[in-house]
Amino acid sequence: QIGNGPTAEVPEWKKIATGRGELGKRTNMSIKDQRESLPAYKMRKQFLEAVHQYQLLIVVGDTGSGKTTQLTQYLAEDGFANAGVIGCTQPRRVAAMSVAARVADEVGCRVGEEVGYTIRFEDKTSHSTRIKYMTDGIMQREILLDPELNRYSVIMLDEAHERTIATDVLFGLLKKTLKRRPDMKLIVTSATLDADKFSSYFNSCPILTIPGRTYPVEIMYSREPESDYLDAALTTVMQIHLTEPPGDILLFLTGKEEIDTSAEILYERMKALGPAVPELMILPIYGALPSEIASRIFEPAPEGTRKVVIATNIAETSITIDGIYFVVDPGFVKQTAYDAKLGMDRLQVTPISQAQAKQRAGRAGRTGPGKCFRLYTESAFQSEMLPTTIPEIQRQNLANTILMLKAMGINDLLGFDFMDPPPTNTMLTALEELYALSALDEEGLLTRLGRRMADFPMEPSLAKSLIMSIELGCSDEMLSIVAMISAVQTVFHRPKDKQQQADAKKAKFHDAAGDHLTLLNVYQGWKLAGKTDPWCFENFIQPKSMRRAEDVRKQLIQILERHKLRILSCGRDTTRVRQALCSGFFRNSARKDPTEGYKTLVESTPVYLHPSSSLFGKQAEHVIYHSLVETTREYMHNVSVIEPKWLVEAAPTFFRVAGEKGGLSERKKRERIEPLFNRFVGEDEWRLSSQRRQG
Ligand code: ADP
Ligand code: MG
Repeated sequence: QIGNGPTAEVPEWKKIATGRGELGKRTNMSIKDQRESLPAYKMRKQFLEAVHQYQLLIVVGDTGSGKTTQLTQYLAEDGFANAGVIGCTQPRRVAAMSVAARVADEVGCRVGEEVGYTIRFEDKTSHSTRIKYMTDGIMQREILLDPELNRYSVIMLDEAHERTIATDVLFGLLKKTLKRRPDMKLIVTSATLDADKFSSYFNSCPILTIPGRTYPVEIMYSREPESDYLDAALTTVMQIHLTEPPGDILLFLTGKEEIDTSAEILYERMKALGPAVPELMILPIYGALPSEIASRIFEPAPEGTRKVVIATNIAETSITIDGIYFVVDPGFVKQTAYDAKLGMDRLQVTPISQAQAKQRAGRAGRTGPGKCFRLYTESAFQSEMLPTTIPEIQRQNLANTILMLKAMGINDLLGFDFMDPPPTNTMLTALEELYALSALDEEGLLTRLGRRMADFPMEPSLAKSLIMSIELGCSDEMLSIVAMISAVQTVFHRPKDKQQQADAKKAKFHDAAGDHLTLLNVYQGWKLAGKTDPWCFENFIQPKSMRRAEDVRKQLIQILERHKLRILSCGRDTTRVRQALCSGFFRNSARKDPTEGYKTLVESTPVYLHPSSSLFGKQAEHVIYHSLVETTREYMHNVSVIEPKWLVEAAPTFFRVAGEKGGLSERKKRERIEPLFNRFVGEDEWRLSSQRRQG
C-alpha cells in the first residue's frame, strides 16, 4: 500500500524554477544545462516512478551525481511539494547550508524562500519553504515534537553512509512513522554500496542506482611512512602545483587549526617563490566556516591559476567541488570517540578506513583522469586501516540520544530497531550518566527534569546547568554563558600581529573565578556599551560572534518561556552561577596536582590549564571544565574555580564524602570526595552495569 501520490500537474511552484542563478553567470553553462548534465538526470523518470510506486526507496550514486541537489527538486517539480514540505537531512551543518544555497540558486529564489535550511540555532525557512535542508539532529528534534511529521510529504535521509548517530536513530524512528503515515515517502541515499544492508534493514525495499561517470584515478603511495604528514602534505601540494598539468587540488586535513595553519604556511611558501610561478588560490573549508566564505570554494580558479582546497572529511562525500584532478590524502581524520578513561567523548585524530581512502581518491576522477597521492605506504593501507568506518553509534557517548529517545517514550532501548545496535556497555554508561544528572530515576525512567532537559538543543550537562540556574536564581547570567559557549568557538579576536594587545584587552575581562564568568563579563560589557561594533573592535571581540550569541540567547529564552521558567539575575552573587555549572559538569572536575597541572577526580587523568584560560598561573585548587581539547596535551577548555562540597551537593549519588575511617581532619574529610559507584540493583540492564564494573 503506497497511498495516493500527488498529482502530476505542473505545480505553481515549478514555474519560478527557470532563473539563471549566480553560478550560471560565472560559468558558461546555463543552470539548466548543468542540471541536465548530472548523472541523476538520466534517472529522473525512473526515480519518480519508483517513488510513486514504493513508500521506501534507497538511492545509491557516486558523490557528485546529483542526489542531494537534484532529487529534492525532481520531487518538487513532480508535485510532492504541494502535499507538504520535502525534507532532506544532512549530517553536517555546512553541507545543509551549502546545498540549500546551491538549490535556491538553481530554483531561482533566495535561501529561506522556496528553498531553505535549518541548523541548530539557525532557521532559514519560511512558510513558503517547500524544500528544506536540515541537519539530521534538527530532524530528530522535529520528530520529538511531532512523531508523525505531518508537515512533510517526503523525507530524504541523505548521506546515510555517513552513519551519524542522529541518522542511525532516524532510521528506526522513521520506519515507525511510515507505518502511521502511509502517504509519506522515505528516500534513503548513500554514496557507497552498503545498499544491500540498507535494503534488508528497510524491509527489503527497492534500490535505485545512479550509474556513475567517473574516470580512472592513479594512486600513488609514500615509499616510507611519513614522520610529519603536514609537512609532507604541503610539499606534495607545492610539487603538484609546480610540475603537474592544470587541475585543482584537494587536500584532506583533520581540523580547523591544522587547515588554517597549513593555509598560512602554503601562502608564505608560495610568496617566497616570487611572481614567476603561477598563482595558487588557497581555500580552506571546514565545519565552522561561515557560509559566505564556504561558498568561495565552488568558484572556478581564474585562467592560468590553480586552486587548492584544504578540507576536512566534509569534502569526502558531503560537498562536491568540481574541477579537482589531484587529491592529497594524509590518511587521517578527526573524529569523536568515547574515551572510557575520561568518561566522555573526545576528539581524536585517527587513521581513516580503507573505504574512506577510496572515497577520497575518487574525488580526483570526476572531471577527468586524476591522481591521488596517499601519504602512507601501501602496506599501511592494507594492514593498518579498517575496511570500513565504525558507525558513530558504536563509538560515541549516547547520553544525548538516549535522553531524546526516552523523551519520545521509547524505554526499551535494548529492543530498539537499530541497524547496528550500540554496545550494551555504551548504553549503560549513558544511562548512568543521565541517572547521575537526575534526568532518569532509579528505574531508568525519565524524570520531570529529564523531560525538560530534552527540550534544550544542547548536551545534557549544559541543559541541566541552565535549568538548575533557575532554582539558584541566576538564569539571566547562565543564559548568557550558555549562549556564548553554544554559539561560537570563541568570541575573542587574537590577530597574529597584535597578540599582546589582544591579550591585554582580554585580561580586563578576566574573572578570578574563571572562564565562565569571564565570558559573562564580556557579554555584560558588550550589553552595557549598547552592543556596538566599535566596542568590539576596541576590545578585540568578534562582533559577529557576539551577535550570534545574542541570537542563541534569544532562542533559549523562548524555550524557557515555553516552559514558564523564570529569568532571574543573581547580581554580583556569581557563586551561584558556578554552583549551577557544577550541577551539570560535576564529572568534569579536577584537582590541582602537587607536581604539575591537574588530575580529574573521576579517573585521575592528567589535564592542564591552557595559557588562554583566565585561571592560568593562578593556584585554583578545585576546578570544573566544560570540555577537553587535545593538542600537545589534554587541555581543559572553559574552566572555573569551585568548592568541592558543591560537587557533593550537585550530584550526591555520584560523589560522596570519603574518609569515615582514618585520621583525616573534619575539613579534609569533607573535602576529599570520591566517585561513588555500584548503586544499581534490580532490573536486568542495571545489574549488567554493575557486573561490568566488577569485571
Ligand atoms: P551528490 O549529493 O550526489 O553527491 P550533489 O547534488 O551534492 O551530488 O552535487 C551535484 C553537483 O552540484 C556537483 O557537481 C556539485 O559540484 C554541484 N554543487 C553542489 N553544491 C554546490 C554549490 N554550493 N555551489 C556550486 N556547485 C555546487
Ligand atoms: Mg550529497
